[in-house]
Amino acid sequence: MRKKTIFKKLVLREIHLKRKVFLPFFRPCIGREEREGVNSVLDSGWIGKGAKTEEFENEVKKYVGSKYAIGTNSCTSALELSLSAAGISREDEVITTPMTFPATANVIVHTGARPVFVDIEKDTLNIDPGKIENAITIKTKAIIPVHFAGYPCRMSEILKIAKKYNLFIIGDAAHAFGSEYYNRKIGSIGDLTCFSFYATKNITTGEGGMVTTNNKKLADKIRLLSLHGISSDAWRRFQGKTYKHWETILPGYKYNMYDIQAAIGLAQLKKIDKFIKIRENYARIYDKAFEDTPEIIIPAMQDQIKHSYHLYVVMFKLEDLTVTRDEIMNILQSSNIGIGVHYRALHLHRFYRKAYGFKRDDFPIAEYVSDRVLSLPLYPKMAKEDVLDAARAVKEIAAKYKKRKIF
Ligand SMILES: *Cc1c(COP(=O)(O)O)cnc(C)c1O
Repeated sequence: MRKKTIFKKLVLREIHLKRKVFLPFFRPCIGREEREGVNSVLDSGWIGKGAKTEEFENEVKKYVGSKYAIGTNSCTSALELSLSAAGISREDEVITTPMTFPATANVIVHTGARPVFVDIEKDTLNIDPGKIENAITIKTKAIIPVHFAGYPCRMSEILKIAKKYNLFIIGDAAHAFGSEYYNRKIGSIGDLTCFSFYATKNITTGEGGMVTTNNKKLADKIRLLSLHGISSDAWRRFQGKTYKHWETILPGYKYNMYDIQAAIGLAQLKKIDKFIKIRENYARIYDKAFEDTPEIIIPAMQDQIKHSYHLYVVMFKLEDLTVTRDEIMNILQSSNIGIGVHYRALHLHRFYRKAYGFKRDDFPIAEYVSDRVLSLPLYPKMAKEDVLDAARAVKEIAAKYKKRKIF
C-alpha cells in the first residue's frame, strides 16, 4: 500500500526579502567609556552606593531640569517608592493607562490601592486626558501618565485636572528619558517622574531607575524609603571621623542604585542626545518608507514635543489585510527581523480580568490598538541598511496580504 504523506501546508510563507542574518529587536550600545567607568569603581574600593551614584543623580537632575533625583534599582521600584511617598494605600484609587507594561499597574496593586484604567488616544496611544475626569472618584489619589514610546502625554491638561481634584502626578517615563513637552524635559513636570535604565531603554545601567522631583519633602522621603528607612547611609557613615549611630525612621525598602550601575549610567548619559538623534533619523526613514502604504499607520508627530523614539510602533489596518498582527509578527520573525509588541492591553491580562473584573469592550481604543501594534527594531547600534531591511519586509507583507477589493 502506498503510504500517503500529507504535507501540512505552511500557512505563513516566508517572504521574498528574507535577511541572511537575524536582526535583533534590540541591542544595547556599550562602549569603552562604560567599561572604564565600571573598572574605576571596581578599583576604587567602594562598589556599593556612594559617590558615583550621587554624581549620576546630579547629572540626571541637571539634564532633566529637576531639583532632586534619587537613583533606584529599577523604574518599578521608583514607581513604588513614589506611590508610597505620596501616601497611597488601601482604599485609594490610582488612574493609569491600559496601554503599558504591567509594572505600572502592579505597583498600584502592591500599595493596596485599586488601579483604574482610562482609555487612550488613537493617535498618540497615550492616556486620553478628556476621559480622566469621568474616572475620578472621592477615592482617587493619583494619576500615572505613561509617555508611550517616548511621546509625551498632554501634560498641561493632566496638570489642570490634578490641580482641580488635588491629585498627585507620578509619571511613568520609562520610555521618555530625553523627551520634551513644550521645551520642558519630561522629569521636570508633575510631582514625581520615574525613569528606567533597564537594558532595552534609551540609556541603560543594566538594571536601574531614577525618580526626579522638585518637591523636597517627597525627595527626602523617597531617599529615606529607598535605603531601609535608616537615618544615614553606609557611605556617609564611613565619611566621618567618628562613628555615629543610625536608626530606623521608617520601615523602608532596599531599592537604591549603586556605584557600578551609576558608572555605566554616567557614560551613557553623555551619549543620550546622540542616541536620540540616531533614533530620530531612523524613525524618519521608516516614516518615509511607509508613506505609500496605507495599510500601515505610522507613529504620530507634533511640533511642540520632542519624541525620544524609545520605540517605533506601527499599526496595521487589519480591515485591509488578510493576516492578523500575530501572523505578521511570525512572518517577520521567521524572515530574520526581530520585533516586539508594546503592548497587549493590560486590563485583558489574566490577573487584571480576575481581580478586578475587567473585560473586552471596557477600553475599546486600547483594545483596537492592542490587536494591531507592532514595534520595529530601532536603536543606535543598527545600521541604516538594517532599518531599510525591516521596512522592506513589512511593506512586502502588506502588499502580499492586501485585501483585493471586489466591486
Ligand atoms: C520598562 C518599563 C517599566 C519597568 O522598568 P524597570 O526598570 O524594568 O523596572 C515600567 N513601565 C514601562 C512603561 C516600561 O516600559
